[in-house]
Amino acid sequence: MELPKLVEPTVCRIIIGPDHLWPLPFGDEVMPFRHQGRGDDAAGGGARPQLLCGHNVVDSHKTYTAYVLQEASAARAQKMTLHEDNKTVLIVGAGQAGGRAAQELAAQGFAGRIVMVGDEAHLPYERPPLSKAVLKGAAGEDSLYLHPAPDWRKEGLEVVLGDAVAGIDHAARVATLASGRRLAYDSLILATGGVARPLPLPGGEFCVSLRTLDDSRKLRAALELAGRIAVIGGGVIGMEVAATAASLGKSVCVIEAGTGVMARILPPPVSDWLAGLHRDAGVDLRTGAQVTGVRREGEGYVVEGPGLSVAADIVLSAVGMVPNSGLVPDEARGRTGGILTDALGRVPGLDGVYACGDVAESWNALYGDHIRLETWRNADRQPRAIARTICGQDTPHAETPWMWTDQFGRNIQVVGLRRDGAATVARGAVGTPGSSLYWLVDGAIAGGVLIDNGRDRRFLEKLVESRATPDLDKLADPAVPLKTLV
Ligand SMILES: Cc1cc2nc3c(=O)[nH]c(=O)nc-3n(C[C@H](O)[C@H](O)[C@H](O)COP(=O)(O)OP(=O)(O)OC[C@H]3O[C@@H](n4cnc5c(N)ncnc54)[C@H](O)[C@@H]3O)c2cc1C
Repeated sequence: MELPKLVEPTVCRIIIGPDHLWPLPFGDEVMPFRHQGRGDDAAGGGARPQLLCGHNVVDSHKTYTAYVLQEASAARAQKMTLHEDNKTVLIVGAGQAGGRAAQELAAQGFAGRIVMVGDEAHLPYERPPLSKAVLKGAAGEDSLYLHPAPDWRKEGLEVVLGDAVAGIDHAARVATLASGRRLAYDSLILATGGVARPLPLPGGEFCVSLRTLDDSRKLRAALELAGRIAVIGGGVIGMEVAATAASLGKSVCVIEAGTGVMARILPPPVSDWLAGLHRDAGVDLRTGAQVTGVRREGEGYVVEGPGLSVAADIVLSAVGMVPNSGLVPDEARGRTGGILTDALGRVPGLDGVYACGDVAESWNALYGDHIRLETWRNADRQPRAIARTICGQDTPHAETPWMWTDQFGRNIQVVGLRRDGAATVARGAVGTPGSSLYWLVDGAIAGGVLIDNGRDRRFLEKLVESRATPDLDKLADPAVPLKTLV
């Protein structure tokens, strides 16, 4: 939309009808103001649009007052009366957590401005298929976007893509974007996720990584041409890519420094079973192997280390992620480098600031500790709880850790955090469809792995949440339904 050209600094009123809601005009500085009521009939006939919010736009030293109009459903208009303060919530990060926060604020009838800034070029999407179905080509990219899909325009959310929040003046509550734009806010939600950890070794620059949709596209295109892929790191992403590449008929070598795969998450019997699954599918799995560097050779690369020389066309570095926590001061960061929060998602010492998703190291009542989870469900639920808190209904969130992975058609779900040396109880032979392996701390169930056994997930969660101490013979007996032990 073209802003009128004005010679002198002045104030003019611009009506933006529903058809012109996208994109919103942004100037050098955007100052929110409070206004709510009926607007002019700018939609050109039909029902009078509801005036939801407005902002002053300061552009090249000219001031405009922009009114944002939107058709509001009666239900939403009613909800809006619950939140009379027309304030601005700025969401940094347009990933899964950021998208869910925005969507929930709108669903709760938040009457102020909701602005979401993301440095990727894409609307919020979910990452799990990037290493699985989308990488394999079994699902299209349209399956990635949030479901149910928010109607970003209709819900009146302002989304800025391809621009990063470069700095925040927490005292003044103003964010500065890489483009130079400045955004004032009342509440700030940091949903900045993380980046793939770079391989800190000579030749690390030859490696590709997998965190974003663009990474996945690049890897997929490379796999179409390549015959051989070397994967450095046998964690979740490394093993998922290995499984996908092997099922595409590629020659795959996984190099893992530790003694087992996905060992941070899986107890040794399940890790060993998974390693066997990969080896049976032809994956060359090297555990206990230290990589010292990657070098170019001809058109490809060689991954090197003591007793190690693996030639490949693509080298994927899958050595974890680093949380994007640079927008808060050091004292607001926890031991994993995430942003500390309380159970409501509030960052201590920074009034009006919240963090959620992969970047948040949040107080979790279940563990009596701050924990940072890199899981889909946490990125789904925690931002919704924060949105409700911002809308006046304090909603503490304590995520029961849950993640899943799909490899070679097998589904593995993990509930709880793995504990070294914990006693384990197996239900069925590990790896058989429907089998489980639980671990116990002080006699209580603290977690478990379910193999092709998703139906037991919610019962296992209840057992973990209640620190249940069931009869161990019954726990081990596949003939006793898990739900009867809850
Ligand atoms: C390949 C892959 C497979 C996965 N598979 C599974 C799985 O099977 N099961 C499971 O439970 N979990 C899985 N996960 C984890 C899950 O996807 C994450 O937990 C989830 O994406 C976290 O969402 P988030 O919004 O917190 O962070 P992200 O998804 O990382 O989103 C954060 C966004 O913020 C942007 N950003 C960062 N800083 C700024 C800034 N300063 N300004 C503007 N924008 C910024 C980032 O670019 C990014 O777009 C997988 C992750 C990956 C990468």
